[in-house]
Amino acid sequence: MPSVAIIGAGLAGLTCGTALKGLVENVKIFEKNVFPGGRINRFRAGEYEFNNGAQYFTVNNPLFWNIVSAWQTQGFVRPWDGWIVELQKGQVINSDMATQRFVGVPRMQTVAENLARQCELVTSANISELERQDDGGWRLFNDRGDYLGAYDIVIIATSAHQVADLCRPITAISDAADKVDMTVCWSGMFAFEKSLDIPYDAAFVLDSPLSWISRYQFTDAANDADCWILHASPEWSQQYAASFRGRVMHALLDAFWEATDLSPDKPVSAGVHCWKHALPINPIDEDSLFDDAQAIGACGDWCTAPRIEGAVLSGFSMADRIMKYIHRHHA
Ligand SMILES: Cc1cc2nc3c(=O)[nH]c(=O)nc-3n(C[C@H](O)[C@H](O)[C@H](O)COP(=O)(O)OP(=O)(O)OC[C@H]3O[C@@H](n4cnc5c(N)ncnc54)[C@H](O)[C@@H]3O)c2cc1C
Repeated sequence: MPSVAIIGAGLAGLTCGTALKGLVENVKIFEKNVFPGGRINRFRAGEYEFNNGAQYFTVNNPLFWNIVSAWQTQGFVRPWDGWIVELQKGQVINSDMATQRFVGVPRMQTVAENLARQCELVTSANISELERQDDGGWRLFNDRGDYLGAYDIVIIATSAHQVADLCRPITAISDAADKVDMTVCWSGMFAFEKSLDIPYDAAFVLDSPLSWISRYQFTDAANDADCWILHASPEWSQQYAASFRGRVMHALLDAFWEATDLSPDKPVSAGVHCWKHALPINPIDEDSLFDDAQAIGACGDWCTAPRIEGAVLSGFSMADRIMKYIHRHHA
């Protein structure tokens, strides 16, 4: 049975890893961060913790429905029935009660943590070189040049720009990944001592530097602060991508008061984070990519759609392609 190395423990890599469980003996996931999740992440500002990156997910595809039902049964996701509105210049202009949304329990990153528990995961492993061996397999090296093992099949489950960097000679994959552009997203996290007079839970914001605001409801029970997460629009984020964090923090907060039509209040804790590669603008619409001759593949939301559902379906498609490859070459 061939061995498989998956680079990246975001939702795509973790889905691929868990789908291969029980079918392929030796599957190892390498993640450069100290924890899994990628763009579903957590952020600590002072004593407060926030969902960073994805705030919720939606479900359209029947296969993803089945996967989410299983996650629900295992207790790490639940429907989110928050009141979500559209805001324009301080006014609520629309209410969105129709879309079914889900969140991780108690936080978004729990989804990744639960999947990771079912896999063999190596963290703090920043893979920087893949070397093709004469007998077919791949040798993996980290950014310090340490050798991390040889594998028959390699899957790159990172965002598009990292895929292109890692497998430059495999042009069928690197050329496709190279063409994908990503948005920038500044995100701000603020905790207020007194509850703000905002009746809704989250809002899409129009005509503003912000595109999304949401009350963080899953903080530690000991925290009774009112915590808000603000996402700047792609256009604003791009324009201020190189700005100082302090300047961005003030600009996001000013935009928040304007969007909600509230008088400014001083947060007890604040933090900002810039996602330099937030969402793929032009996914390639191919589910996943696999080069049969070189036994190397790539998956992620940049293949399918810029959301959790896209990442999961891409990871699932990758696992399916690996099984078909193994059947053809090793059965
Ligand atoms: C601000 C923001 C808000 C979002 N909001 C939503 C939302 O509300 N709903 C929704 O459905 N989606 C949302 N998304 C999108 C969603 O988070 C992504 O589509 C999804 O998480 C992508 O998963 P992925 O596995 O394809 O990639 P990633 O999550 O990026 O995973 C890639 C992983 O590869 C690792 N990696 C990269 N290079 C290496 C290397 N060389 N060696 C080892 N590891 C490496 C990275 O550290 C990362 O963990 C949002 C994203 C952002 C940034």
